[in-house]
Amino acid sequence: MSETTALRAAETPAGRPDPLGYLAEEIADLQAKHLYRPLRVMTGAQATRTVMDGRPVISLSSNNYLGLATHPHLVRAALDAVRDLGVGSGAVRTIAGTMELHQELERRLAAFKHTEAVLTFQSGFTANSGVIPTITGERDLIVSDELNHASIIDGVRLSRAARAVFPHRDVDGLERVLREARAKGTVPGGSGVSGASGGSAASGASGGPYEHILVITDGVFSMDGDIAPLPGICEVAERYDAAVMVDDAHASGVLGRNGRGTIDHFDLHGRVDVQVGTLSKAVGVLGGYVAGRQHLRDYLIQRSRPFLFSTSHPPAVAAACLAAIDVLEGEPERIDRLWENTRFFKAGLQELGFDTGVSETPITPVIVRDSEKAGRMSDRLFELGIFAQAVVYPTVALDKARIRTIVTSEHSRDELQACLDAFGTVGRELRVI
Ligand SMILES: *Cc1c(COP(=O)(O)O)cnc(C)c1O
Repeated sequence: MSETTALRAAETPAGRPDPLGYLAEEIADLQAKHLYRPLRVMTGAQATRTVMDGRPVISLSSNNYLGLATHPHLVRAALDAVRDLGVGSGAVRTIAGTMELHQELERRLAAFKHTEAVLTFQSGFTANSGVIPTITGERDLIVSDELNHASIIDGVRLSRAARAVFPHRDVDGLERVLREARAKGTVPGGSGVSGASGGSAASGASGGPYEHILVITDGVFSMDGDIAPLPGICEVAERYDAAVMVDDAHASGVLGRNGRGTIDHFDLHGRVDVQVGTLSKAVGVLGGYVAGRQHLRDYLIQRSRPFLFSTSHPPAVAAACLAAIDVLEGEPERIDRLWENTRFFKAGLQELGFDTGVSETPITPVIVRDSEKAGRMSDRLFELGIFAQAVVYPTVALDKARIRTIVTSEHSRDELQACLDAFGTVGRELRVI
């Protein structure tokens, strides 16, 4: 931001000093550090080829893994629901906002996930922030993978439970935390366990052991595309009497039979107590859900704040999500195409010499390290007609800036090859390869 803009920002339009003027200073600081990313606006159709900020591009940045966001069966279901039931739902679920469609979606999702029950939320974000503080209290401990999604972190912050972090995907590290927690009733700090804090709050107040322990992990990690070691996590958690929660946002529709998620992928049915899924990514619509036992659903309905205090999905959203389950069950070839494209694109990036980290899924990071370089790389790719967003601090560590790519089932080989060609050109230009 130029100095004059900063000066102008320091005053409100009415001429008084702006009490929020410090925000303009923060923005100038982000810009100086190349950590400020503007929004790009999509004006074209939502497809692999679209128009961003007026430029035709091939997109590698959408979570619409299976193309369901524009699938005719979903579109028709949404239109029918709007015509028959209106555009809004009118109230929170506990007042007058529970429609037959909401209940039907939850029954279908529970059957799909092989769980007793499901409760939907307005988004995956609210599912996490709605379930975690509701099922944990001040005499409990939450143990969380250090790279868990922001919505899990916020859910943990809303809880009165003590908390500890275990090193990323490290089952032995998780066991160390659980062993010490069970032995002493306090949260361990020090070697191998980073970010442990608040341990004395719970144990200090009560002086006793933790009543309940909840272990939380992403199923697929959203920035690196790696998969949680769930069999090991379940095994350790069972030994220490801890509940397990898995956030399967990036696995829903991607991993497991017909996209049932990581629990199905590892055949761990019945061993994960809380499954969170999103309806906003591969499912193509909007929303989140919690899948598990019947008493989990019943308790959340009584106590979960986003459920109790925020209006339910419009009928068109629930109808489109129901239609999405039909497509997941009826067109599994979409998931096969997604994985074929994933293998082709990942191999291509690796042959070019890029560092693609530890990805095992359609999320493939191209790790550039330096934030400024990542921003420049994204901008140059954009000039060449490829939309692939840079991801910088605080979404990833300061020295782990990257271009994050996601292929979908809908990309053609020609489109993916064009992307690889552009990555090669820009990578050599900026000396990333
Ligand atoms: C995207 C994401 C969410 C949030 O889901 P929304 O439905 O977009 O709110 C939650 N958890 C993880 C791991 C995610 O990647």
